[in-house]
Amino acid sequence: TQDTPLVLIPGKIHPRVVERLKAAHTVLQVPVEEVASLDEATRRRIRAMAFSYGGGKSGELIAALPALEIIANFGVGYDGVDVKAAAERGIIVTNTPDVLDDEVADTTIALLLNTARQFYQAESWLRAGHWQAEGPFALSPLSLRGRHVGLYGLGRIGREIASRLEPFKVKISYHTRTPRQDVSYGYAPSLLELARTVDTLICIVPKTPETHKAINAEVLQALGPKGIFISVGRGWSVDEEALISALKTGTIAGAGLDVFYSEPHVPAELLTFPNVSLLPHVASASVDTRNAMADLVVDNILGWLENRKALTPVPETPAR
Ligand code: NDP
Repeated sequence: TQDTPLVLIPGKIHPRVVERLKAAHTVLQVPVEEVASLDEATRRRIRAMAFSYGGGKSGELIAALPALEIIANFGVGYDGVDVKAAAERGIIVTNTPDVLDDEVADTTIALLLNTARQFYQAESWLRAGHWQAEGPFALSPLSLRGRHVGLYGLGRIGREIASRLEPFKVKISYHTRTPRQDVSYGYAPSLLELARTVDTLICIVPKTPETHKAINAEVLQALGPKGIFISVGRGWSVDEEALISALKTGTIAGAGLDVFYSEPHVPAELLTFPNVSLLPHVASASVDTRNAMADLVVDNILGWLENRKALTPVPETPAR
């Protein structure tokens, strides 16, 4: 009927989200660019939206949906949602915290080890038959031994990365805007100070105006010639030109990247460095973890539509 609420899925999302929502509600799945041209009666029935990062269109979506009450974002990073526009309208935005922390932290450790020890190149050497034909793979110039790791960001995921680093017997420091009372790692009052203190830097901050290209030439210079840089937060936080130049000149020793400034574009030059490990934004991408994220998206929407209770609202748009 006219009053039955609709749940909108603009564009593509994890199939489990579609399946579970369809079991409970009427779902409308249309390409993002077609939402604004839906007839008004339909747009007025849309009360919930399950959203997977589509890049920059969420403000227009919000404007086109006068009855929208909740946007459930697939992912813990909700930089793809215009939270300001949502907050002004009293629309709740939810994300998927906690359920992916372990997976992302595991990936970060793997990326760090791959970067330092060049396991990708070693395996490629074996697969290409070089081991038998030419003998052992070259010794890795870098190692995790004796390193001092700095975390830029020590939130849900940063904490899990740090606790995994402890048994690796490395020193650990961090920078966040507010020092944490519940950890004994060294605190650096700025990112630059952190880069000066450590020889391994992991970026796991959200995409915000303040974190834009925070990893710049000065920070990389401070990290120094033994430096390894690992990027798992958002590509937004890295000045990729400065990084490429730092790798080329030996200003730092290596880098491991899961995220890029303008995904899925990866600067061609990065592919040419032997001391760089590259992943296509897969930190949380296991079947189990993505299922858990899908469930949290759905449970937020069902919780809201059925009990007026969103499970994991973001701080900018607290549940009423
Ligand atoms: P949290 O909100 O729990 O933690 C964010 C951390 O960053 C906090 O320690 C916060 O401390 C710090 N921070 C935020 N802004 C700044 C700043 N301007 N300067 C210094 N520190 C800052 O987020 P999560 O740990 O759950 O996730 C972090 C990000 O990781 C997500 O937003 C997402 O973008 C990214 N991510 C990437 C994935 C991938 O697939 N590669 C998967 C999952 C997440 P304080 O507020 O004190 O500054």
